[in-house]
This record gives sequence, C-alpha cells and structure tokens, in this order.
Amino acid sequence: MSKRRLAATFLQRSGILQLLERSRSKPSILIVNHHRVGDAALTRFDRDVFSASADAFEMQLKYFKRHFNIVAGEELEDLVSGKTPLKHTQIAITFDDGYLNDYTISFPILKAHNCAGNFFLVPQYVGTATVPWWDEIAYLLRNSPKSEITFQSPVPFTINLNGDREQAIREVLRYYKRRDNHNSDQFMNELREQIGCELPQVERRFINWEEAREMKAAGMSIGSHTQTHNILGQMAPEVQRWELTESKKNIEANIGTEIRSLAYPVGIRGAFDETTEHIAQSLGYKMCFSFYGGINTSDHIQPMNLLRMATSRDDLIFRVETTLLSRLGKLPY
Ligand SMILES: [Zn+2]
Repeated sequence: MSKRRLAATFLQRSGILQLLERSRSKPSILIVNHHRVGDAALTRFDRDVFSASADAFEMQLKYFKRHFNIVAGEELEDLVSGKTPLKHTQIAITFDDGYLNDYTISFPILKAHNCAGNFFLVPQYVGTATVPWWDEIAYLLRNSPKSEITFQSPVPFTINLNGDREQAIREVLRYYKRRDNHNSDQFMNELREQIGCELPQVERRFINWEEAREMKAAGMSIGSHTQTHNILGQMAPEVQRWELTESKKNIEANIGTEIRSLAYPVGIRGAFDETTEHIAQSLGYKMCFSFYGGINTSDHIQPMNLLRMATSRDDLIFRVETTLLSRLGKLPY
C-alpha cells in the first residue's frame, strides 16, 4: 500500500477525516487539474494523463458541491485579484490540452450539475488528430520491438525496454521534460529513428472551435495553454513571448472574448520561470496556472503562479487530500 493510501485509510478509520470535514475550511482557492477524463485502460497513448473516469469525475463534482463553492472564469479572477474577499475554500476545476473528451464527457457532466470549468486550449491542436509528444512517446515505447533505445540529447542515456514498459515511458517523459532539453525535435527524431514502429492513423482527438464556442456560451471559461504546447522553460524569452501572444490572439479571434488566463504546459517547477511570469503579466494575462501541487491560501495568492493539484483516481485519497488541503492549507506528508 502506498504512503498516500496508508495515510488516507488511517485518517478515515480513526474518524479524523470526518471531524475535519465538519470543521471550517480555510479562506483559500483549491484548484484541481484534469487532462483526460475517461477510461485510461482503453487508450493506446499516455495513460498517466487520465485523471478520472467519467463516474469518478462526477463523484468528485458532487463531493465538491456538497462541501464547497465551485468557481470559474471572472468569478475566479475576482477572487485571485482580491476584488472579492475570500471567506472559505473555493474550488476551481481546470482542464488542460483541449482533448475531445472535454466536450464529450466533462462538459455534459459539468452542465448537468450546473457547474463551470476552466478549459485551456492549444490552438495548434484545436480540431485536429494531433498525437502530441507525450502521447507519441507512450505509443512508440509501448509498441516497439526493440529491447533498448539510446538517446544523445539532452544528455546521453539508454532506456531498457525488457522490463516494465509503462515505467520506461515515464522515464523517457522525465528526460523530455528536463529544463536542459532545448532541442525537443532532436529528442523525438532520435526516438523515431530507433524505435522500429510507427504511430497509427487516428481520428480527431481535440475539440474544434465550434465546440469551444458552445462550451463558452454555456458558461465554461476558456484560456490559453500556449500556441504549440512546447515547454516554456526550455525556450528563449522571445519564443515564450510568441507562444503566449499567438495563442491569445488565435483563441480570441475564434472565441470572441478576451483571453486572460493561461496554463503553463507541463506546469512543474522549471517548465516556466520568472521570465515567463513577467512576459505573461505584460501581455495582459491575469491568472496563470502551474501544476506541482498545493493550495492558494488567502495570505499567499500568486496570480502568475496559481497552484494546482492533480486529483487522485483513488476516491479515498481524493477525499482525504481535498479535506487536508482545505482545512490545513497543506498536506502533512
Ligand atoms: Zn498540457
């Protein structure tokens, strides 16, 4: 049993969880993030980007509605800027990348429960069958007939494919996301040249502009996830500026409203930096989201680095971590 599961089981069995649930939440904004909602076991691509099944997502939404207030778009922006004072924990639900399941699964569930979500789109992917780098890496490594692959960039390393392939996928993704991986094209070419298999033909995988407009009209909030989903921290400042400017312009032209929020691709420490934050601020972004965990307590809200947590696919861990963050302001482990 993992440390997280062990802690969650203890808190539930001891009754501490139930006591905490009945106590007052801290004035804070708890922001959760999803990439894909659906059945991870069915995908041929990256399974780790699935954060919940449709049922689990609906269960989480009901839980949030029972215990908290759910906010999105301008309402969230006013809480972040301090225009609206924070009295207790507010929940914001975000979705990165604009996968088709945003429209087919998450949007109908949100609508049925009269809740709004925040969706971050990559204009280059909108309406296309693109297989982004994380999905391509996952597919190729899972299907390769080879027993090992050697990379020269960003540093020489060899990945063994005789053992657990899912572990190998995570390992290669870790190298791809390194801050010193300045040439991601070279990285992907090295992989494609040695792997001995090819990507399959696929149907459209990302929502189109018409769907995005429908979601917006139904009260969902739309933001930018950059133009190409390259990792900002790996790029020169002028390229970062282009990513943020171009995506804002494209989404505004297609959605018809000003875009003021941005989710940093990957979002972990090093995937963006202070330079990125300054560029974003200078371009008129009011809310920028990272993705390395945590909660935004009223005494520490950074509009250019709003903390987001991943939701667990495990119901009990989800409930325990949401409760701990909203009551204590942090996870004790
Ligand atoms: Zn993303």
